[in-house]
Amino acid sequence: MQVRALEKYGAPIRAVVPGKVFRYEATDASHDTTFWQLEGLVVAEGITVSHLIGVMKELLKGIFKKEVEIRLRPGYFPFVEPGFELDVKCFICAGSGCSVCKKSGWVELMPCGLVHPNVLRGGGVDSEKYSGFAFGLGLSRIAMMKYKIDDVRLFLGGDLRFLEQF
Ligand SMILES: [Zn+2]
Repeated sequence: MQVRALEKYGAPIRAVVPGKVFRYEATDASHDTTFWQLEGLVVAEGITVSHLIGVMKELLKGIFKKEVEIRLRPGYFPFVEPGFELDVKCFICAGSGCSVCKKSGWVELMPCGLVHPNVLRGGGVDSEKYSGFAFGLGLSRIAMMKYKIDDVRLFLGGDLRFLEQF
C-alpha cells in the first residue's frame, strides 16, 4: 500500500494499513497461508533507522504494556533498503526455546526497513529530499505472544473450544 498512499497523499506522511495477507507457504506452528498484518509507513525529511527502531520499540511497548526485548537482523525485502527482520524475545518460553520460536528464543515479528528510493519515486515523492521507514506487523503473531497461543493455525482452525475463549 506504500506507493498508493504516497501517490494519493504525498509526503510527509504517516500511515498504517491493516489487512489480511495470503501467501503460498508451508504451514507450521508459527507460519500460516493466511494471516493479518498492519503495514506502516513514515516518510518525512531526515528519517533514519534510529526513528524506525524508536517507533517500533514504543509501538511494541504500547501493545504489550511492558518493555520488549528486540533485535534486528539484516533481511531482504524488495521495497526497503536496508531491510531488517525485527525479532522479539519469545513470550511463550521467555527465550529458553519452544516450538513457536523454533528453539531459538526469538520470534520474527516485523519485517521492516528504510523505504527504497524507487518506492518513493514510484509514489511521486522526491527521494533526494525525503526518506522514510516501513514495516509489516504480523497481528496474528502479536496475538500469539500476547495471549500465549502456541500454534498460529488455531486462529483459522474453526475449533470452537479455542475461538470461544475470546
Ligand atoms: Zn519460544
